[in-house]
Amino acid sequence: MAGLEDLYKEIVIDHYRSPRNRGELETPPAQHAEGLNPLCGDEVHVYVQVEDEVITEVAIGGQGCSISQASASMMSAAIKGKSLAEVRELSTAVKSMMSIHEQSLEDDDSGVLPEPPEVELGDLEALKGVVKYPVRIKCATLGWNTLAEALQS
Ligand code: ZN
Repeated sequence: MAGLEDLYKEIVIDHYRSPRNRGELETPPAQHAEGLNPLCGDEVHVYVQVEDEVITEVAIGGQGCSISQASASMMSAAIKGKSLAEVRELSTAVKSMMSIHEQSLEDDDSGVLPEPPEVELGDLEALKGVVKYPVRIKCATLGWNTLAEALQS
């Protein structure tokens, strides 16, 4: 599986070096939220424009570690042009991917996890390579949590 690990690493580095959808959107019409991960000093700003239940525009700002910024970039590429329902599924799939790892690390077999939705993760799959390091999970989910806030704003 070493090849897969390398691929994951490459995807993360690529998104960190060439972040997608970097910038700002005018608010309104766009919705905006800022997320902080004090454990690591990460900051992610998410701007989304929603028209007819579809994310038509997304922009990402902020600064922080490679995982937080690469993860936010991957998220922006994954959600652009998707319906809010599709985005919710993606978000659930990413978070369950993280919590499965969290749980296996704790070696806790008490809880039964809900079946993750069957969605195409694309580059987001690369986050699997990250979540072996529990301290980085908050970095990787920061973008998604901030997106949820932006959509509620
Ligand atoms: Zn971080």
